[in-house]
Amino acid sequence: MSKKFLVLCMAALMALTALAAGCGGTQKSSDEKVLKVGTNADFAPFEFQDENGKEYQGFDMDLIRAVGEEMGYKVEISNVNFDGLIPALEAGNIDVAVSGMTINDERKQKVLFSDPYYKSGLSIVVAKDNTAINKFEDLKGKKVAVQIGTTSAAEVNKIGGVEVKEFNSSADTFMELRAKGVDAVVNDRPVNDNYILKSGETNVKALPDLLTSEDYGIALSKQNGELQKKVNDALKKLHENGKYDEIFAKWFGTASK
Ligand code: GLN
Repeated sequence: MSKKFLVLCMAALMALTALAAGCGGTQKSSDEKVLKVGTNADFAPFEFQDENGKEYQGFDMDLIRAVGEEMGYKVEISNVNFDGLIPALEAGNIDVAVSGMTINDERKQKVLFSDPYYKSGLSIVVAKDNTAINKFEDLKGKKVAVQIGTTSAAEVNKIGGVEVKEFNSSADTFMELRAKGVDAVVNDRPVNDNYILKSGETNVKALPDLLTSEDYGIALSKQNGELQKKVNDALKKLHENGKYDEIFAKWFGTASK
């Protein structure tokens, strides 16, 4: 066999392979519906990235993957600052925001929400030896770290007389407490509890006082009423078939209410 013939054969084979792959790919991408998900992956146990900073993990991440599967969509997750999620929805850069986002009237002016999927509220974390702060009222006159654009930021500002320091993520608020830059941190209770449990930090405590009762919802653009219905149908299915309870138990260890 001549060398030239061999090269020709190889070239033909490569062209065929490329064609086959091309056909498969086109076929796939035209069939596959993609759900672009935005999250602020610094909010364990709801959303965070593994040690390699690659895999998105947490209750919200499992839930949205299950919702996507139920709807027949491929889920693609991207990390967005919490206060950038609603603008990203409005700009059409993402289809849904799943980020422990509380359903409230202010946000409802801008976006649609799915049915509520998790009940939350706000709590306080302070240094273990702090005896001055026992409840939200005690935050008056104190320095408090919160995450920008959150219900914590809004509620702590409402108390009045609090020196509020705003940070990009809940992780940054905890860091500020550790650095003694603030007297307290206010975040969603499950996130505070998770921090106490998982960070290995032994010098802090979460207080039992709860401010607000909040429902998390999946946010969508106002233009996307159709998708909102699909998401709600999927959530309903997941409640009926036990998948929601399974995901809940994986992250919170107890049966959902
Ligand atoms: N639940 C709070 C809110 O919606 C905090 C969410 C978050 O920081 N990811 O404002």
